[in-house]
Amino acid sequence: MGFLDRTGRTLFLAELASGMALTFRYMFKKRATVNYPYQKGPLSPRFRGEHALRRYPSGEERCIACKLCEAICPAQAITIEAEPRDDGSRRTTRYDIDMTKCIYCGFCQEACPVDAIVEGPNFEYSAETREELFYDKNKLLANGDRWEYEIARNLEADAPYR
Ligand code: SF4
Ligand code: SF4
Repeated sequence: MGFLDRTGRTLFLAELASGMALTFRYMFKKRATVNYPYQKGPLSPRFRGEHALRRYPSGEERCIACKLCEAICPAQAITIEAEPRDDGSRRTTRYDIDMTKCIYCGFCQEACPVDAIVEGPNFEYSAETREELFYDKNKLLANGDRWEYEIARNLEADAPYR
């Protein structure tokens, strides 16, 4: 660009004018952003968020303590202890997930034969301390109770493709 061109553009504020023109052009286009947290974008039924342990409609825990999820977890984030109940059924006495280790691969959910451990749609679970991210069985069951409707709906939507 020659000296005269540069001087002309500077004098007539050409850069400012082209910048404002671009701004005005986008003012009337559909917004690409959302006003989070008041607005949220759509989530896939396969979204892998915070973990939850589910129950049957009767309230009984789904988990049968087979430990497949613990075995397949590549991050070794899951710790399970189990013992038989008085009725002979096998249930966990301890189910912990160290969420600081978890890489959200979804293998635990894939391995579970009874859809007990799942990664739900919740992604808003930031914490201020590491300890808050050591989830125990009560926390996971509470997550399941809280998100059961959304989790069941997502599993149903995804079922034809599995
Ligand atoms: S999502 Fe992957 S890393 Fe996280 S607990 Fe499940 S199997 Fe382990
Ligand atoms: S959550 Fe599923 S895979 Fe893991 S121990 Fe329970 S039944 Fe087995």
